Amino acid sequence: MRSLWNDVQAEQCHDELDRRVYSSRLLGQHPDLVLHGGGNTSVKIKEKNLLGEEQTLLYVKGSGSDLIDITRAGFAPVQLEHLLKLAKLPSLSDPQMVNELKTHVTVSGAPTPSVEAILHAILPYTYVDHSHADAVITLTNTPGGLQRIKEIYGEAVVIIPYVMPGFDLARLCAQLFFEQCKPTTQGMILLNHGIFSFGETARESYERMIQLVTRAEQYLQKNQAWDLDLPKSVPAAETLRLPLAQLRQRLSAVTAMPMILRHTHTPLVEKFLQHPLLAQISQQGPATPDHVIRTKRVPMLGQDIDTYIADYQRYFKQHNATAREPKIMLDPAPRVILDPQLGLCSLGKTSQDAQVVQEIFSHTLEIILRATQLEKYQALPARDIFDVEYWDLEQAKLRAAGKPKLFAGEVALVTGAASGIGKACVESLLARGASVIGMDLNPVVATQYQRADYCGVVGDVCVREQIQHALETGVRRFGGLDILILNAGIFPAAQPIAEMDASVWQKTLDINLTANLVLLQESYSLLKLAPRHGRVVVIGSKNVAAPGPGASAYSASKAALNQLVRVTALEWGKDKIRVNSVHPDAVFDTGIWTEEILQARAQAYGMTVEQYKQRNVMGVDITSHDVAELVVEMCGPLFAKTTAAQIPVDGGDLRVI
Ligand code: ZN
Repeated sequence: MRSLWNDVQAEQCHDELDRRVYSSRLLGQHPDLVLHGGGNTSVKIKEKNLLGEEQTLLYVKGSGSDLIDITRAGFAPVQLEHLLKLAKLPSLSDPQMVNELKTHVTVSGAPTPSVEAILHAILPYTYVDHSHADAVITLTNTPGGLQRIKEIYGEAVVIIPYVMPGFDLARLCAQLFFEQCKPTTQGMILLNHGIFSFGETARESYERMIQLVTRAEQYLQKNQAWDLDLPKSVPAAETLRLPLAQLRQRLSAVTAMPMILRHTHTPLVEKFLQHPLLAQISQQGPATPDHVIRTKRVPMLGQDIDTYIADYQRYFKQHNATAREPKIMLDPAPRVILDPQLGLCSLGKTSQDAQVVQEIFSHTLEIILRATQLEKYQALPARDIFDVEYWDLEQAKLRAAGKPKLFAGEVALVTGAASGIGKACVESLLARGASVIGMDLNPVVATQYQRADYCGVVGDVCVREQIQHALETGVRRFGGLDILILNAGIFPAAQPIAEMDASVWQKTLDINLTANLVLLQESYSLLKLAPRHGRVVVIGSKNVAAPGPGASAYSASKAALNQLVRVTALEWGKDKIRVNSVHPDAVFDTGIWTEEILQARAQAYGMTVEQYKQRNVMGVDITSHDVAELVVEMCGPLFAKTTAAQIPVDGGDLRVI
């Protein structure tokens, strides 16, 4: 592990808090130190208040920030003196502690201070850094962990036995730290939890973290427990989209809401699946208790959901019986699935959640394999994990996420997603919490959004294999398909029927009609498995009801598509799949309306371009966004009992009315 400290960047920091932000971000850049909200940092700064009185504030990471992109506002300034007095109390309940933390922050609107704030307060150093470093928890999750830590670090660290985070841990640390601290002490190891480093400057504290963790890594290397001898490749997977969608449907039934199921199968996953002790090493528990709220205590091995649920219920019942106050059981679905056929799958209410679970568990796989190679992986007893899983303060973090969005956990495929109405549909879907597979010929589709809930696939809707590829890619990322938006289409240059070019005619039918038939065929088995039932919306056209001269290929293809949609609605009603269409007109911010085509169409009606654009009865502009909002709402509860509907979005067309 190398220090990322950069003097040039560090010199741009104006004050201590800036330096705290800078080195916290450095810490966040090491995924083997901190992952997603894990870890926390602080700095103690003397300041004068409005009355000119000097006080020392502990700027400690607040909840809701990740170290990798934390800002000044991500730190909560708490009155240090008060925290030090609290640390002397014989006991303090969690709600009392949170109340004291919140009421002794000096800036209104500051985030809630980390529950480890009192621990940061008692350590007598300006800077304090805390991480759940992989290498350190690899060592402490072995039967001989304590001895190994003593051997590696000697007096460089104070060792704290495992205690649940919160007030009791802070008190124990205060006691042991002052008993054991030597002038050479640079950090503190919390068995089965993580590591603290500290120093007088941001650099000293950060680099001590790097050095201490490096010593743990070197120890693993020296003991042949670092290199994992991963396989060069993983078995070439056949198509997985149907088994994935089936599994997702069953898991969504357990949580009573649609869930995202994210698939991955790396050499690390394969190595783990091939391990002779797989059944044992996979069921020990998380590497640090904090992970339990993301990954649950243990993954599901194979696909026997009923057994997993029964085991979870037993675990809950057993530990709830002796809990301080009765708890309400969380949904018993696994968050990680390890299966020889499906590799590693992670489950989440959103794609972001599923991605976080996957990343955390990939680190867990490495930790378990290394600990096993060194000696034996031994996590904390289930009781300790239960206490963190059902800790009010952890549950509060989950509740803070608020009410799920309209399409949270649902997956949509949009064709022609790189521009116009298709792109607008992608945005309206993302805004309502859906995860979106965007398909388009234009390579831009692959990179237009960099986010966990978007998957762009370059492909031609006229080629069945490319549709299959898009579905396979998307379902591996999100687990299924709930919503299909058939949007891709062309509007060829005007040609009178007498002069119609056969290839133009055929191409128009291929894209506007036949491709949609194939998309429907290929999506059917997936839509049938949608937890809230499948929905299809087809972008039709005003031309269905009011065709235009010179536009025979376009009008005929859209009219045939309209009939296809109606038959689909008839056939798929028994599967509760709703199939509706919208008929937009005069949406001029789309790819098909080039200046040339605009002029040609205006001419066909004997109008100027300006007249042609505003010829609807309301005299309004219709944008791609307007169409997209209608399309997306038609997939929601408002239209729950509507199928085979055709809704215009055209400002009112005289010829249609
Ligand atoms: Zn921690």
